[in-house]
Amino acid sequence: MSNRSWVTLATNDSYGLGALVLAHSLRRAGSVYPAVVLITPSVTEAMRERLRAVFAEVVTVDVLDSRDAAHLALLQRPELGITFTKIHCWNLTQYEKCVFLDADILVVQNCDELFEREELSAAPDVGWPDCFNSGVFVFKPSAETFENLIKFAQERGSFDGGDQGLLNSFFSDWAHGDINKHLPFLYNVTSAAFYSYLPALKHYGQNLKIIHFIGAAKPWLQQFNWESRHVDAPEHLREFLQLWWDLFVSQVHSHLDVSMSGVAGN
Ligand code: UDP
Ligand code: MN
Repeated sequence: MSNRSWVTLATNDSYGLGALVLAHSLRRAGSVYPAVVLITPSVTEAMRERLRAVFAEVVTVDVLDSRDAAHLALLQRPELGITFTKIHCWNLTQYEKCVFLDADILVVQNCDELFEREELSAAPDVGWPDCFNSGVFVFKPSAETFENLIKFAQERGSFDGGDQGLLNSFFSDWAHGDINKHLPFLYNVTSAAFYSYLPALKHYGQNLKIIHFIGAAKPWLQQFNWESRHVDAPEHLREFLQLWWDLFVSQVHSHLDVSMSGVAGN
């Protein structure tokens, strides 16, 4: 068994679709490492079966929720308290080193070199670059770190109500500490960057490794034309959303049962 693994999280069937496409994108990129998905009891049995077919492990965890409505309102994402569930990833102590990837991520090129990095390595967040974006991070599973994170969360909460605020406060030396823990932005290109610095995207975009569809407009919620098989999306984002949908159509959709196939697209 590998002592390294990719890890993602799905607390419902919609994010389960994202996790399935993510796993196929890792295969397409030729990763040699297995992938684990953390799920919560609300994921349906039909989705679990699909997840079991593509993930090396499907691990059921309890829901952890910040229930911090005030900070989540500031973020305009009331649903993100549940992302505290992510910290269960530190309990995967059967692995020595892991890389967490949000379920709204697509791996475009092989990124296996990420496993050479240390905890906690992550890329800057475009909204506040002295914070890391918690959609992609390298970590070392440890029951002790998990306990400390839970204690920290109970005592201090999260400044944004989600996992990103919590993790940035806990790993607070990231901004000013070891520069090797700063992943290049190419490992977590958030879709917001497509609107804020287009010349850079044109210039560096060919080397893009990981695309992260942050925000409420997830790939599986986009308008998709089943006849032409084209996704309807803003120009710069279209190429990557199309890749997400191409993987969904070719690898995921035909295996879904009728109850689930209506979850994505329109
Ligand atoms: N997530 C989930 N269920 C939810 C919300 C989030 O499973 O209802 C997980 C999923 O892995 C997701 C991650 O938590 O990718 C972070 O949430 P999201 O990607 O929506 O946040 P954003 O990247 O848009 O800030
Ligand atoms: Mn995300």
